[in-house]
Amino acid sequence: MSELVIKDLQVSVDTEDGPKEILKGVTLTIASGETHAIMGPNGSGKSTLAYSIAGHPKYTITGGSVTLDGEDVLSMSVDERARAGLFLAMQYPVEVPGVSVANFLRTAKTAIDGEAPKLRTWVKDVNGALDRLNLDSTFSQRSVNEGFSGGEKKRHEIAQLELLDPKVAILDETDSGLDIDALKVVSEGVNRFRGQEGKGVLLITHYTRILRYIEPDRVHVFVDGRVAESGGPELADELEANGYDRFLKAQV
Ligand code: ADP
Ligand code: MG
Ligand code: MG
Repeated sequence: MSELVIKDLQVSVDTEDGPKEILKGVTLTIASGETHAIMGPNGSGKSTLAYSIAGHPKYTITGGSVTLDGEDVLSMSVDERARAGLFLAMQYPVEVPGVSVANFLRTAKTAIDGEAPKLRTWVKDVNGALDRLNLDSTFSQRSVNEGFSGGEKKRHEIAQLELLDPKVAILDETDSGLDIDALKVVSEGVNRFRGQEGKGVLLITHYTRILRYIEPDRVHVFVDGRVAESGGPELADELEANGYDRFLKAQV
């Protein structure tokens, strides 16, 4: 049983013109066994929330707290956050030229477990994970994200999710740029993950499309750096039908 608790989180981003307030008090609890979707218009601060929880240096926490199973996430280094069981799939995965997928995955796994995985089972695990995501085994020799298609980037993120096996996964626009086949494959990967005991998922998305494949338990509408409304899956249906207008108008 684990729990990610976000309380009144306030975050500024460093811009050329100085700090800019983006998150204006976000409160959210994700318990294991639950999938929460955050939906919001572009620029509402969804990625900022993901980066802040992951510990990206560009984002300054100005108030509030984030805890995982009672431990203060915000005081942890990025590595400590991963070891504590947090995983972030980024909206725009970065290229790591010269580092193969195989090395990258093994290094990440070693850092998280505190010891290198046993080679024989590890190679099997990696090939199995890639195979389930319709990536062939030569994929593991390519440089991380270099020349990857949109779909390959997102599949690689889900391969990491499967192999690193965190407690809570934050997936930022894992659906963006995917054709329908890739969307299905990626969604199945997320569903395999959340089907396991004790896993929590925070699914950040702009579109309702992915929620047909990954059914959330809770949906949060995110507007201007805040959760404007929370509800069940029916809230996503309303967004699908009417868009974000009602929530944008409600802003003062
Ligand atoms: P979303 O993911 O919902 O589209 P973001 O979190 O990416 O929103 O961005 C929220 C707001 O913060 C936007 O106005 C964006 O321009 C601004 N912002 C985010 N990151 C940066 C950054 N690194 N530098 C400058 N502005 C940023
Ligand atoms: Mg955006
Ligand atoms: Mg974003």
